[in-house]
Order: sequence, then structure tokens, then C-alpha cells
Amino acid sequence: MFGWTGKILCVDLTTGHATTLRPDPAEYHAFIGGRGLAGHLLAPHATRSWDDPDLPLLFMAGPLTGTIAPTSGRLTAMSLSPLTGTAFDSSVGGKLGTQLKRAGWDGILLTGRAPELSALRVADGEARVVPARDLAGRSALAVMDAVAPLVPGQEESVAAVGPAAETGSLLASILVDRHHAVGRGGLGLVMAAKNLKYFTVTGTGRVAVADPKALKAAREDIFRLTAASPALLGEHGFSAYGTGALYDLISTRRMMPTANFRATHYAPAPELNAARIKARFHPHKAGCKGCHVLCKKVADDGRAMPEYETLSHFTALVENRDLETVVAANALCGELGLDTISAASTLACHAEITGRKLAPAEILALIRDMGTGQGLGAELARGSLRYAESHGRPELSMSVKGLELPAYDPRGAYGMALAYAVSTRGGCHLRAYPVSHEILRKPVATDRFSFSGKARIIKIAEDAAAVVDSLTACKFLFFAATLEEYAKALSAVTGRETSAQELLAVGARICLAERRMNAEAGFTAADDDLPARFFAEAGSGGNGIAVPALDREEFLKARDAYYRVRGLDAEGRPTAEALRKAGLA
Ligand code: SF4
Repeated sequence: MFGWTGKILCVDLTTGHATTLRPDPAEYHAFIGGRGLAGHLLAPHATRSWDDPDLPLLFMAGPLTGTIAPTSGRLTAMSLSPLTGTAFDSSVGGKLGTQLKRAGWDGILLTGRAPELSALRVADGEARVVPARDLAGRSALAVMDAVAPLVPGQEESVAAVGPAAETGSLLASILVDRHHAVGRGGLGLVMAAKNLKYFTVTGTGRVAVADPKALKAAREDIFRLTAASPALLGEHGFSAYGTGALYDLISTRRMMPTANFRATHYAPAPELNAARIKARFHPHKAGCKGCHVLCKKVADDGRAMPEYETLSHFTALVENRDLETVVAANALCGELGLDTISAASTLACHAEITGRKLAPAEILALIRDMGTGQGLGAELARGSLRYAESHGRPELSMSVKGLELPAYDPRGAYGMALAYAVSTRGGCHLRAYPVSHEILRKPVATDRFSFSGKARIIKIAEDAAAVVDSLTACKFLFFAATLEEYAKALSAVTGRETSAQELLAVGARICLAERRMNAEAGFTAADDDLPARFFAEAGSGGNGIAVPALDREEFLKARDAYYRVRGLDAEGRPTAEALRKAGLA
């Protein structure tokens, strides 16, 4: 086999026993790798509870991982989410995917529950479960310092959970290689439920490529396209400023969620943008293995600079004007192992319910308490929906399926509104990434204040994103490149000719399989909805931009249209016909 190793490492943490799963080549072709293959292996477990020891926690690389294909150093983590109850995948950077492939594995499938706090160490073909009692309660960064100190040439990859996971937070993340995170959905808690504090992977092998010359040509095509992209490699793009480059744009579009989504414009935003961060913290470029864009920014003191969503939510959403607090909150969430988007959003919900603004010191103190399960922090660490419900105000949780919404107000981008509602993992901007066409106007501009045509656009974008997450590559590259270039790269790597059309059909299969898992777990159309605020209250218009409340009827019509093009019934469940056509019957 080229591209894939053909082997998945299965570790039963109850016994410490490791075995090898060898999927049929047809399964690889049907689901590619990454998110697709992880979902395929998760599917029989869709109705388990997140803390069932038999529930798999998967870490899956793709056929391009470990090759010279641009941005192929990413990896998918997947399981059922303690926060949303849905099937939940999360794409993460760093070097974990690359090391996994070099070690000879397409993925790791973890089941069971270790009898004591443990770690898994994978080195090429060998996997050992070892005690990790001495690291109980330590921050994810402290684990990395202890097991893989930063030295030049350090290739071992480390994934660890922090105290948030150990104290039961539903917002618990998994930190990977210091500056990357399996952030959303509480997958860190699933790892902690298996009594696994960290795992390391190191490998010395090489990924076999069928046609290195054709891969090099595909890679050069992608490089040429990205070089011409202002959003990626331009003077004010992601490479220069990180994803924080979006901050000014979203602010001027008057769609920056402010004060728990009570407003869509934050007046102090111009003093809190990525340029201010650059001037103040002088970060250098960093990024995922195999990436030439390097959108991560790290200060000399080792602190990662906030991504756009974190910057926006820890300023506008919680009404904080202090940049140092944003950077400190971001670092604290990383160390404790908390999802920054959900943490900030839960704090904003708390501020609205209690009717007061949080001071910078209070923001940091509450994050610390959320990460260690102390006092009010323990309540907030269960996410905004449970917190708001327990205070009799569920409508003030700005979430979909319990997942807190990111930093794009849906009243300012209707494709985003639809994408948030129908996303299989809850309030997520990356499922269909409408920012691309509604805000950055790539590959073509769409009218952000209209639902017209959005059902089909969102469906196709979801299919494409599922492919990207399965290859595995980075969605940001698709501001410039398309599936056509990546189909060429995949054909070159695997030696099996494929096309963008064929890949989109695979993406549709992956999305439908995820829908089926959620339907089996009891999700219906009632869960594919937005918080009532967006249909009742207008956003903050100005500068010639009106931001009215969403029209509920138009939204429901768009959702129905989405259900039709996706092959779902009126309750959002896959029809037998759609499953049969997708080869999932
Ligand atoms: S663009 Fe950024 S997130 Fe994407 S692969 Fe490169 S460094 Fe990682």
C-alpha cells in the first residue's frame, strides 16, 4: 500500500494489551483516513455513553500525512462528546500525525480504562502502557516538560490532558506539542475517563509514495496558488498575523459577537487587533509540521498568541479591553486543558446571567477555577448550556447542541447561521467554513445577508471539509487551493487515480455517516437550531450596514432545503435511499 500504512494500533488500556487492526483497502478508499476513517470505526458505538470504557477514542492520520503534500501534518481526534453527546471530531496540528505515520501507524484506537493514571508510549512498532501517577494534577505543559523537554531536533510528539480533564470539565481539551490543541467538545475528558494522562509517539520510518514526481508537481501547484493568496501569504494575511488577521475584518463587517451576542460590534476592537498583539508581544512564526504558511504565533516567553476566535471572545464577548488578559487567558486555558472558545463563552453567559461585567483579574481567576474544579469554576466547567439551565436561563447559552458558538455572529452571515445549526458536532464554524465565501469572498463571493442558495453551498462545503479533514490537510489552504490540486496529490501518493468529484462523493458519505450516528443517539431537527436571540434581536448596525434579526421562516426554509439536498427526512435523519446511494445501507 502507498500513502496508508494499512495498520491501526489498538490499545486496550484496561489490560495494556496492544493489537493491530488492518482495515480492508476498500474501507480506506471509502473513508480516506482522518475524520472519515475515525468516524467509520466509531459508528458501531454511537449510542454508548462518553465514559463507557468500550467507547473508542481515536487519533487518525491520513494518506497524505508524513508526505511532502502541503499542510498534511494534521491529525483527527474523534469520539463521542461529553459536552454535546454527538459524534465529535477535532483536527489538530503539531507533529503528532507525522510521527504516527513514521512509526508505521495510520491511527491509534484507545479503549478500556487503565487501573491507575497511565501513559502510552509508542515508538515505531512498539507500544507500552506505563504509570503516570506522579503527573496527576499537573498541567499539560508540565507533562511535556517532564516527558519531552524542548531540545533542538526533538521529534517525539506528546499529547496530554491537564487538570481540567482530571477534574471532570466538559470543556477539557488535549494539548499537543505545546501549541496545538484538540480543543472543542471535551475530548480531553474522554481521554481522562480512560485514565490516560498523556501519550507520546515517535517514528523513524518513511511514508511510501507511489509517484514522487507527480506529488512534487501537485505540491508546486498548491504553493503557486497559496503564494498568490493575500489571505494566506499576503502582507496582512495569516502568515504575517495568524488567524487574528480576521479580527479587523469581522469587526468592520459588524458581526463580532459582543457581550454574549447581545451586540455585534465592539467599539474598542481597533485597539485590540492582531497588529497590536504583534507590536506588543513580538511573536515569531510557528506552525504544523509540513506547513509553509506557519499561521501560529509564539512569543519569546513561549506563550502562544491567541487564534482569532480566542482573541475575539476574550475581548468583545466578555467585554475585556486588556490584551495581556487575553494572552494570559489563552495560555492558562492551554495549561489547564480548556477549550478557549467554550470557556470564554461560558464566562460571557455567566456575566449576562449575573448582570455584571467581569474584571480582567476575575476572568483569569474563574478560568483557573474552571480548570481545577473549584467553587463556581466547577459549575462553569460544565459549559454554558448546563450552567444557564441550572440558573433557569437556558436561552442565554449561545450554543448549538451544547457547543458554544465561535466568533462569527450568524446575523452577519446567513450561510454561517445555517452551518452552525446543521453542524453534526454543534456550534462550529469549521464544518462548512462559510467565512471563506461570505467574508473573504473565496473562491467566489456570496451574499452574506441572504439564505438564497445557501443550502446547497453549505452541503457542498461540508462535503469538501470532510475530505480535507480526512486527507488530512488544513482548511485554510482552501482559501487558495481546491480539491482538484489535492486530488492530484492523493493520486500521486496512493497510486490510485481519483478526482475532485470522486472525493466530494466520499465527503458526502462521511457527513451522512456522522448524521446517522447522531440520529441513532436521538438527535432530531429540534437540535438543528440556533439560540432564540438571533431571531428576536437585531445586531449592531452602523457604517451603512444593517444587521437585522434573522427571519425564522427563511431560516427554516433553508434548513428544509439543506435536509433535502443532504438526503435527510424532516427530522434531519438520513433516509434509507440516501444511505443506500452513499454505500452506507
Ligand atoms: S495554516 Fe496554520 S493551522 Fe494550517 S497547517 Fe499551517 S500552521 Fe497549521
